[in-house]
Amino acid sequence: MSVFVLDKRKKPLMPCSEKRARRMLERGRARVHRLVPFTIRLVDRTQAESVVQPVVVKLDPGATTTGMALARVEEGNAEPTHHVLHLAELPHRGRAIRAAMRQRAAFRRRRRGKNLRYRPARFDNRRKPKGWLAPSLRHRVETVVSWVARYRRFVPVSQVAMERVRFDTHALAAPEVAAKGGIAYQQGTLAGFEIREYLLEKWERSCAYCDARDVPLQIEHIIARSRGGSDRVSNLTLACEPCNRRKDAQAVETFLAHDPKRLARIQANLQKPLDGAAAMNATRWALWRMLCATGLPVECATGGRTKWNRSRLDIPKTHALDAACVGVVGRVANWQRPTLAIRCTGRGAYSRTRLTAHGFPRGHLTRQKRHYGFQTGDLVRAVVAEGVHAGTWIGRVAVRATGSFNIRIGTQTRQGICWRNCIVLQHGDGYAYETSSQR
Ligand SMILES: [Zn+2]
Repeated sequence: MSVFVLDKRKKPLMPCSEKRARRMLERGRARVHRLVPFTIRLVDRTQAESVVQPVVVKLDPGATTTGMALARVEEGNAEPTHHVLHLAELPHRGRAIRAAMRQRAAFRRRRRGKNLRYRPARFDNRRKPKGWLAPSLRHRVETVVSWVARYRRFVPVSQVAMERVRFDTHALAAPEVAAKGGIAYQQGTLAGFEIREYLLEKWERSCAYCDARDVPLQIEHIIARSRGGSDRVSNLTLACEPCNRRKDAQAVETFLAHDPKRLARIQANLQKPLDGAAAMNATRWALWRMLCATGLPVECATGGRTKWNRSRLDIPKTHALDAACVGVVGRVANWQRPTLAIRCTGRGAYSRTRLTAHGFPRGHLTRQKRHYGFQTGDLVRAVVAEGVHAGTWIGRVAVRATGSFNIRIGTQTRQGICWRNCIVLQHGDGYAYETSSQR
């Protein structure tokens, strides 16, 4: 994993290798600034004295997880080479937020009902401003924007690239796609990947003839090519392999003679015009706008291009590597590196009352969050000399007023470790981290 490097005024420099960082620390030229993501600070260098190359933050916003990658851009004659510096994945808490808000609403409803027997309904007196996002979606946008801001503190970021739409409508409408002898979309071309993404979106990722999902889907000509059917997207759908083989060159009317409802649905769907807005959901749009507001140049890419890059460069599919493949890129280098798993933990609840599942108070949290110099979420090292917990433990702490703490190491928790055995390695910042190679 690359090590982030800051100058003596805490301005970002180019990241370096672990080996180089170790050597600089040994020689006393650097101090450890932060443990995760590992960052060092040079004691004798300023940003003005150093060479800073262009670095791009690449984002693949997903429904459950957003992949993030940092890459050094090497401009070549043709398309740039991206040298991956850092990979990270940020799962979103959308479901948890939704559940918490529903529970809060239910508790409030109960409390109102308790003191006020009747009140006229006023459920439709709220007006949502334009661009309003549900809290669970806003969280998605805001955590990603906040991570871009963080990366700007560690690395000299010069641009952002994000996947904003699933496919490029211009690529589909281009006449040469249809003109290229009809095989343009089959031979792993960019236009082919854009068409595939478009069809997946339009036909809801299922077979048009049997609704099969999660099976390999093939591009299928409604009017077979042998009968003079064109390769335009208005003649294409998706079918699973058995259906595709069974239909063969039959006319769709004959093939679906037994199922007129489905036939009508398919024909109606074929008439639907290309709609770029359908491929762009509100969250990605909001994310794009907020990233533009940071003042960095934002490159907008398509999902089709990401997939094309990934298959062309033979890179496996993960959220972080998808992010590394976003945008116009000739080659992606150094992608074989561990991924930092970032988990949103927050900084504790505002409410100081713990409730049972039915909304009755169960206990109260202390008024202050800090105990013996520790706060829940801090990364601590506990050295325990004897007893059941004998050993050295490094992990995320959960504090108690009694001074008997819990330490979470990976997935397991050590309960009841005395605060006297602990020291803080890094204060909590609202996130928990895990690397595939834990240092
Ligand atoms: Zn099928």
